[in-house]
Amino acid sequence: MREHCLVNPGQTVRLADWDANDTCGVASKAEAEKELKRLNKELARLQELLYAEDKHRLLIVLQAMGTGGKDGVIKQVMRGVNPQGCLVHNFKVPTPEELAHDFLWRINQRVPPRRYITIFNRSHYEDVLVVRVHNLVPESVWRPRYEQMNQFEKLLGETETTILKFYLHITKDEQKRRLEARRDTPHKQWKFSLGDVKERAYWDDYMRAYEEALTQCSTPWAPWYIIPANKKWFRDLSVARIIVETLERLDMRYPEPEPGIEQAVVPD
Ligand code: ADP
Repeated sequence: MREHCLVNPGQTVRLADWDANDTCGVASKAEAEKELKRLNKELARLQELLYAEDKHRLLIVLQAMGTGGKDGVIKQVMRGVNPQGCLVHNFKVPTPEELAHDFLWRINQRVPPRRYITIFNRSHYEDVLVVRVHNLVPESVWRPRYEQMNQFEKLLGETETTILKFYLHITKDEQKRRLEARRDTPHKQWKFSLGDVKERAYWDDYMRAYEEALTQCSTPWAPWYIIPANKKWFRDLSVARIIVETLERLDMRYPEPEPGIEQAVVPD
């Protein structure tokens, strides 16, 4: 699943070639949900180990078109994780103060500290996505950002931060279904955003912007994964698997206990 979703460094991405309905051979929703429950427990265990070892940091970047499922992934995949060890940051339209700095300033303040899992719900990639699509800055400013982001992520990678970047890939038809469902379901209406409807008109421009970001910025130290996300159960399962496998590879260990604790007497 991991290999299937990975954008190999140097690979040119054409999103039309990536099937948003793919389930990588997982037979059913029921099977996926069962496996996800197991992975939720495993992730909780690994996160506690990450916290205890106090050595690594994990940064998870989530990007998607509106309704793509960023919120759903956070809710379903992180279920069971101790909230004390997990930080979530949403990146919105930059404030005047943020705009007065370089585009990575607000990002750098929120990268994970040691022993934490940090999730970026949107990220610095907005600065080559929405910014590019709407010409918020000239190309001479956004074009160098791919390399600037690669270098920034390299620095993080060299300082014990493991980075996973997920693009939740849905089709335009699926977005329409989800927007209509939000519009027509009373308890979902609060999530209906006219902004999403407006941005939909730029779908093709966004796809081109995503393709370039995924192509330019999947690196050995901060790979992009394209997650087939039309089926929510597959989306959650694949993200959970990749996170769990990544943490397992860190080969973490509980720290040595303080010397002499075997003889420590616990007073009544
Ligand atoms: P979400 O859609 O993530 O649930 P919002 O509806 O508040 O949250 O959308 C956040 C908005 O902020 C999006 O339209 C996104 O494109 C925008 N945004 C984020 N980062 C930037 C940026 N660097 N420049 C311009 N707009 C941005």
